[in-house]
Amino acid sequence: MPPIKKMIGKKFGRLLVLKSLPKVKGKCFSYLCKCDCGKERNVDGSKLRSGHTKSCGCSRIKWTPAERRTLERYNGAKSRCKGNNKDYSDVKFLYNSFEEMVEDIGLCPEGMEIDRADPYGNYEPGNCRYVYRLKQASNQRMLKRNKSGARGVILNKHLNKFEARIAFYGDTVSLGYFEDFWEAHQTYLTYYFLKNDEYPPEFRAY
Ligand SMILES: [Zn+2]
Repeated sequence: MPPIKKMIGKKFGRLLVLKSLPKVKGKCFSYLCKCDCGKERNVDGSKLRSGHTKSCGCSRIKWTPAERRTLERYNGAKSRCKGNNKDYSDVKFLYNSFEEMVEDIGLCPEGMEIDRADPYGNYEPGNCRYVYRLKQASNQRMLKRNKSGARGVILNKHLNKFEARIAFYGDTVSLGYFEDFWEAHQTYLTYYFLKNDEYPPEFRAY
């Protein structure tokens, strides 16, 4: 089989094919590949195409729970943008690699999700952060009840702002008004933590 020009620039798992290597007699063509982790490695073309080799070897290394969680969020966001999800039809995923995202926003803390600071922007360096987010089901339940989308946040239609509120000794206390929904939500969560030293009930199963 001749060296396949088409292989150059292709991605197999974590490996990006950089160039074909001189043919060794009796062996199939091999390629110099660059792994997402930055290491370079020579890999047989057949092993790339069959999926036998997907990284420089680093994917076999044990991941920490935080790294695995972050990778899940990374892949989740990436596939939301690629799929047929209407909510994400004009959102692009512009991180080139998992490592690039980690360099940008660090590892994902437990119970948090990737969020775009500018909701009209893309998943890209400078526009992402981690936020606490309700599970989809409770999110919809809350939406019906308070029209803002999350526990502790109420949309004030007159002011066109989000109010964060928390029940405190039987009274509902206002924590302030916010232009930004997530800011209001984060404020509620911060106070909830101060008061209870744990996640609100909806977050526990997350
Ligand atoms: Zn690697």
